[in-house]
Amino acid sequence: MRKIFTTIVAGLLFAVPFTAMAQVNILACEPEWAALAEEIGGPKISAFSATHARQDPHHIRARPSLIAKARRADLIICSGAGLEVGWLPILLQKSGPQVQPNALGHVTASHYVPLLDTGAGVDRSMGDVHPEGNPHIHLNPHHILPIAAQITDRLAQLDSANADYYQNRYQDFAQRWQQALAQWEAKAAPLKGTQVVVHHKSFSYLIDWLQLRAIASLEPKPGIPPTSSHLESLLQQLKATPAKLILRTPYEPEAASLWLSSKTNIPALVLPYTIGGVAEAGDLFALYDATLALLLENANVE
Ligand SMILES: [Zn+2]
Repeated sequence: MRKIFTTIVAGLLFAVPFTAMAQVNILACEPEWAALAEEIGGPKISAFSATHARQDPHHIRARPSLIAKARRADLIICSGAGLEVGWLPILLQKSGPQVQPNALGHVTASHYVPLLDTGAGVDRSMGDVHPEGNPHIHLNPHHILPIAAQITDRLAQLDSANADYYQNRYQDFAQRWQQALAQWEAKAAPLKGTQVVVHHKSFSYLIDWLQLRAIASLEPKPGIPPTSSHLESLLQQLKATPAKLILRTPYEPEAASLWLSSKTNIPALVLPYTIGGVAEAGDLFALYDATLALLLENANVE
């Protein structure tokens, strides 16, 4: 009996290459990347998001539990383009070389998509929190597949025994995503040209994708809270050029949005922004479904 057991154990050890992992441990900076990792990795990964839908990903505290999670991570996935500059470096300080930026175990999603708002002459000293371009990249669904391909590639290398598994799941996801994309674009066609006001430039990629027109921002500059003089000037602007919606995320303060809405009768609308931003937005597909449904219901375009 003992001999049989020993043989089985030896056989297992031999059969499994050294890059096989029981479960790949992933720390995502934002919920959308944890959800995307789950699409590709399924039960072979365990993904945790450092932020949730009610937290501004520009500003969270690098609390000890997150530092511990970063230390244990095999793979870290973040938006980059400066979004996490206030806290990710603190998480990485005590982590190993395998998850540092540019290592195999670190995906910077913004490296794989074209960025908006990359105009020259902007820097943090002016208070703008988007000096490297707009980092809120996930709300253009065309951005999801190139980033999914990167995640697939990293998982296939980190856990090479399951490389085929990850590649097959990517193929399946990509096919379903392309189908959903075509449906979303058909459904959203009436929204084209809709004029909106935003709180922060959180929805720039969604606006770009759907060809909406952002005519004003409640923040005078990305990251600078609305001032009363700025809001007064917006009120005058909207009297001349009305908008259909005032958009904000679940984590952005509501006061300025509600004030402007009360003065103009333009509906103030909270879009989910990420996974969990509304109850229906439980995964990436549902995030887009819920976002488009809210826009179509409230923009009064049909
Ligand atoms: Zn931002």
